[in-house]
Order: sequence, then C-alpha cells, then structure tokens
Amino acid sequence: MFRNLWTIIFLIFITFFLYSFTDKDGRTVQQKQPLKRIVIDAGHGGPSYLSGKFYGGRGPHVEEKDITLAVALKLEKEINLEMPDIEVVMTRTSDIFDSPIVKANKANEAHGDLFISLHCNDVSPLKHSEIVGYTTKTVKKKGKKTTKKVPEYHYWTTPNPAHGTETYLWGVGKTNEKEEALSENDFVDTALFKSFDDSDPARMIAVSLKTQQYAERSRNLAYTVEEEFEKAGRVSRGAKQRDEKGIWVLQAVAMPAILIELGFLSYPDEEAYLMSDQGQQETSETIVKALKRYRYSLSNKQSAPAKPAAQK
Ligand SMILES: [Zn+2]
Repeated sequence: MFRNLWTIIFLIFITFFLYSFTDKDGRTVQQKQPLKRIVIDAGHGGPSYLSGKFYGGRGPHVEEKDITLAVALKLEKEINLEMPDIEVVMTRTSDIFDSPIVKANKANEAHGDLFISLHCNDVSPLKHSEIVGYTTKTVKKKGKKTTKKVPEYHYWTTPNPAHGTETYLWGVGKTNEKEEALSENDFVDTALFKSFDDSDPARMIAVSLKTQQYAERSRNLAYTVEEEFEKAGRVSRGAKQRDEKGIWVLQAVAMPAILIELGFLSYPDEEAYLMSDQGQQETSETIVKALKRYRYSLSNKQSAPAKPAAQK
C-alpha cells in the first residue's frame, strides 16, 4: 500500500516534469527550452584502411569521413550564427577515429537534447555484360572429340544512378535498446527517481513515456530535414527506419537522434556538390532550416507530420 502510494506520487511528478516547469519566481511555465544542446557527429574518421579492410565510404575523388567533417564544421558555425542560444557539442573536429561506443558516450555525457549523425552513401557501379561473339572449343566427350561453341562476353560498368539524401531514425523494433539507453543515462536526475529500482513499474513507465516522446521528436525532425532538402532542390529519398539492423548509435544515445545521409559519393554530380564549398554550405544551411522548424514545433507542441507530404 505504501509502495503504491509512492508509485502514484512518482507518476504525478513525472507527468509534471515532462509537461511543465517552475521558473525562478515559482510560477509554473511551459516546459523549459527543450533544445539547448545539439550533438553533431561527423561520421567515421581516422585511418581509411586497416589490416586489409576499408573503413567508411568513398567516391572516386573523396572519402566519406572528409565530407562528413567538412559539413559538420560548417553546420556548427551555422548553428552558432543562426541559433546562438544553442550549444553545439562535436564528437570530432579533426580526422580521428572513435568507436560508436565512444561517440555515444560523448553524447550522453554532454547531456545533449538532440543527436545528429552525418554520413554519405556510396554504391557499387552497375555491372553489365553482353555476348560479342563465339569461339569454338574442342572438348573430349566419352573418348570422342567434339566441338563446342563458347560465348565471349564484353564486361563494363556504368555509374550507379542512385542519388539523393535520406534521413534515418532508429527502428521501432529497437525500442528496448533505446529504453535501456535512457534508463542508464539518468534522464531524470533526482533522488526520488533513483530510489526506484530498475524493475519498478513506475520507473519503467516513465522511461517508456520518454522513449515514445524521443521517437516522435526524431521522426518529426527526420521528415522536416528531408522536406527542407527537397525545397532546396535536392533529391530526397525520404525519412526511413532501418528496422532489422537498426543503427546502433541512434539507439545508444539518450536523446532524440537522426542520421542524415548527405548524398551518394558514387554519383558524380552529388560527389562534386558535396566536395564543393557551396554544396557543403547549402547542405548545412538546409539542416539549420529544419532545426529551426523542429525547435518551433517543440515549443508549440505540434505533433509530428504523418507523412513528408503533409506539410506541403
Ligand atoms: Zn557512413
């Protein structure tokens, strides 16, 4: 009975925590600015080739790790300029390697309100072949010599036509992992919260509510980013979930999280665009436009658009 009472008190507290806030003068105000610190993760970094294995993607003229770093640095500058009240935390600012575990820890230790990971796609060229003629081969069959026609092939490749941007959020199938990340990273840092053990239903409900809220925010931002890319004239492949495989780092950070694939380095136009100063600048400006809309929707408690087309 005593325990149940505490559970009810705790749930009331959590509801209050999530939906309102008390300012210095003791007035209850809307939830405090929900976007104060953004963690920007430039994908990959460090050695590209180690013990016979390639790391990170590449196009004919550039490596993914260099594009992600260049855009991440421009994005940091652009946020500082356009949203000066927001603090930016970078997982890397030079060509270094950190494992996704280290990157997720950096984000969690920084207590970010949003995690944005930048990457680039690349795909193999399309392989083609055609028969250009036949040669005659002599083969022995049951001791008898016979001739056989053998086709001769010409092989060639053409650039893969896949191009465009896409933004990922963690799969719904990975909710457990996200809840775990939240549970381990003191999202409510209070003595009361800590007094509940891990298996307490009240704690589990609170973590589950927060996970749902983060999923909704991530989805909202992912669609908004892709809408802005489309408005900017880029080809958008849409907001997506990688459900089966998941994206480890997105599940491991205790905050809303998205992963933006900035374009295909295997597509000549996109590689050139992402290598250019103008392309990198436009890309970071587009992401900032989406971040402004995201922040606005948070402070106005708008729900996430159902489809990317819904806000057109
Ligand atoms: Zn990548």
